[in-house]
Amino acid sequence: MPPLYRAPRGTRDLLPDDRPYWDRVENAARCISTRYGFQKIDTPTFENTGLFIRGVGEGTDIVEKEMYTFQDKGDNSITLRSEGTAPVMRAYLQNGMQGLPQPVKLFYLASIFRYDRPQAGRYREHKQFGVEAIGETDPLLDAEIITLASDFYKTLGLSRIYLQLNNIGCPKCRPIFLKKLIEYYQNHKDELCGDCKRRLVTNPLRLFDCKVESCQELIAQAPKITDSLCEECRTHFDTLQSALQAYKVPFTLNPTLVRGLDYYTKTVFEFWTEGIGAQNALGGGGRYDGLAESLGGRNAPGIGFGLGLDRVILTMQEQEIEVDQPPPPGAFLITLGDAAREYRPLLLRSLRDAGIRVANIYGKRSMKAQMRQANTSGTPFTLILGDRELEKGQIACRNMETGEQTEIRLDQVIPYLKPNT
Ligand code: AMP
Repeated sequence: MPPLYRAPRGTRDLLPDDRPYWDRVENAARCISTRYGFQKIDTPTFENTGLFIRGVGEGTDIVEKEMYTFQDKGDNSITLRSEGTAPVMRAYLQNGMQGLPQPVKLFYLASIFRYDRPQAGRYREHKQFGVEAIGETDPLLDAEIITLASDFYKTLGLSRIYLQLNNIGCPKCRPIFLKKLIEYYQNHKDELCGDCKRRLVTNPLRLFDCKVESCQELIAQAPKITDSLCEECRTHFDTLQSALQAYKVPFTLNPTLVRGLDYYTKTVFEFWTEGIGAQNALGGGGRYDGLAESLGGRNAPGIGFGLGLDRVILTMQEQEIEVDQPPPPGAFLITLGDAAREYRPLLLRSLRDAGIRVANIYGKRSMKAQMRQANTSGTPFTLILGDRELEKGQIACRNMETGEQTEIRLDQVIPYLKPNT
């Protein structure tokens, strides 16, 4: 019979078999963030909807189509975290972090919820490792953030990760570019796909994101933002590139990289890979110098990224990168007879108190059935306690590798196992 309930479409259970991968990537994220001077922040799983509308921007896919929004019982409009930056900026403003030495460097590991069309590598709940450095405009900070992300992928042993880099200007130079872009596309209006006709009105920068074949030539011929940068953005971009070269982080300049969120200014970047289907973006980020103000705060420039961990793990598996498996328990306890069964909790308690991981059998089973389970468990030692041994204050300990079995005194079990487990 099929189960009555399944996990909602686009969500999945992260099962114990996948855990070693998750531990690996989450530990790498923590370790590298700490090395770069970032501290962990946890924001709520849900926020007031206005935060995402003001922060991410109307006209973006996230706000238009992908948010999980509902009215709570107090009639507040609530949205499950649909991206990581706006909540961290909210926390920065709300908790007076502007008074701390700047930049404030924060990282997070968090679930992101988006009503996306599910497919391999695209889920309605996915996990991101993100960092945000707020309160500084120096392009060397941009370089450091990008290097951190690149180090993260490298530490995990990933290869064929391609960094795409662009600068999408600031409120001074971008409007001038957008005018040029709109003019160009107006002249080709009849050649545009339906989505692009809409983008031309709602969010012209996103015209570069179109995947429709017939729009590709138009994108290739379109004016490039990097030809319209103001002096300040140009210098910022040049300094960033030199710093990345000094850090030995290879990149490709991609003048059509724009990213899907409205808050970005100047630097934007993405890490791409191949081999996990259509979902080739592993992570991305950029500078958001206007975000604090659009959330009603004082000016607080920042830069950060969000790296999708589900896709990182898919890529690790695709690239056949092995991760450490947790070791089996140190011992497996078998009991025979009622007195031994009764004594079992006492023995388990003292073994576990001594830090020994011990596996255990429930219910009354034959010696044979218990031994079979001990054999397949992979534990190096099996402890066999029968009523007769118990009476003598002893226990049998079998080395599962050599098959050698020794009787030891019950009060000697811990020192006997300790050096071996
Ligand atoms: P974004 O905030 O859209 O730039 O996303 C950052 C990263 O999160 C992407 O590069 C992906 O690796 C990952 N990501 C975004 N959306 C999804 C999704 N629906 N399912 C799985 N991973 C995602």
